[in-house]
Formats: sequence, structure tokens, C-alpha cells
Amino acid sequence: MAEVTLLSVARRLDRCTVLGPGRRAVIWVQGCPLRCRGCVAAETLPFEGGTTHTVDELADWLCGLPDVEGVTLSGGEPFSQAAGLAELLDTVRTRRPDFSAMAYSGFRHEALRRGGPERLALLRRLDLLVDGPYVASLHGGLRWRGSSNQRIVALTDRYASTATEPDISAGVELSVEADGSLSWAGVPPAPGFREGLERQLAARGFVLHIEARRES
Ligand code: SF4
Repeated sequence: MAEVTLLSVARRLDRCTVLGPGRRAVIWVQGCPLRCRGCVAAETLPFEGGTTHTVDELADWLCGLPDVEGVTLSGGEPFSQAAGLAELLDTVRTRRPDFSAMAYSGFRHEALRRGGPERLALLRRLDLLVDGPYVASLHGGLRWRGSSNQRIVALTDRYASTATEPDISAGVELSVEADGSLSWAGVPPAPGFREGLERQLAARGFVLHIEARRES
């Protein structure tokens, strides 16, 4: 019997315009070995938790989203599940060959390239990488990333033009979930965004849906 590859996922979003080029699906994986001070995705850090999905389940979900041009892999640390995510991209591209891929990583590009065959396999399937840990003292209103040490690395020509586009925050998106709760996605232009949002919502009687979100 063929082996089934599993991925541990903290959260999924089927349409997002603030975590990469165009309209994208987003997968926040569960688990990160780093502990950046000020990480706003604390619930994604333990390797326990999240929900488990097969590669085929996630590929079916992505292929069923006709109005997105690709997926952004966030977390958590995508390169901690590099082999499974590489397999996911291969599976999706058998049905949607032009499906693009972007990933965040707390590791630098140079370190990922030295990191072994599984990390290289995922790197080779990406169009864009946002690399490096979040550093709160370097926080800025930057495009798709939280701190100025983080880089947008174009790994194919697909989004090479991003290097010459304005480096300004794409902001955040608020969503109302099916159960009526609120959630948000994106990279806040100012530190402390999540705490402030939760405080203001609580004062108005709303509860923010606590799940994985991208680091600030
Ligand atoms: S900011 Fe990113 S790399 Fe750093 S601890 Fe949070 S999820 Fe991990």
C-alpha cells in the first residue's frame, strides 16, 4: 500500500491579498523550532496541535479554488515540514501547472540551501521566499514582512518584478468566519497590533478567533 504523507496545519485561508502577490490561498503549518520575541503566531509554535491533513486532501482543496493564483506557506515553520509541502506542490501542479508558491521561513535562504535534501526540494518548488526571523526592534511597515532583516527572495522569474515595486505594507485583512467569529491575516505595519485589536474587540463584545496567524 502506498505511503500517505501527512501535514500538520494550524489554519487555512482560501483567499488572501496581503500575504504575497495577487490572490492566494494560505496554509499556516503547525510547529516552529524558533522563538522570535514578539512572534504574533504563538499558537502555531508547538509541534503538537493543529489538524492533520493528507497531501491529497490539501491538494484537492487548493485545486478547488479557481480564483487564486497560488499558495503562501506560513506558520509556524514551513521548512519543518519541507518534504510534505514539496509533495503537496508537486501534486497540485499535476493539475494546475502554473500554480505559484511562496513561503515564509525563520531561517535565512543561505541556511536553507545548506539544510539537506528535503529543504532543498521545497526551495526548488518556490517562486518567492520571505526569509529570516522576526526581529521586533527592526519592525517596519514593509511589504509582506514584519522586520527589515527579512528579505523577499525571488527564486524564479515569476515574481521577479517585486524587487522593483514599492516596499510598503500590504496591510491586514479581517474576515468573518462561518460561525460569526472574526479572524485576521497579514503582516501588521505596527508592533502590538494583535493585542490592540483583541483589546478593542473585547471592549465591543467580540472575540477574535484564536488560530494561527502570520508573525508581525
Ligand atoms: S516569527 Fe516566525 S520564525 Fe519566529 S517564532 Fe514566530 S513563527 Fe517561528
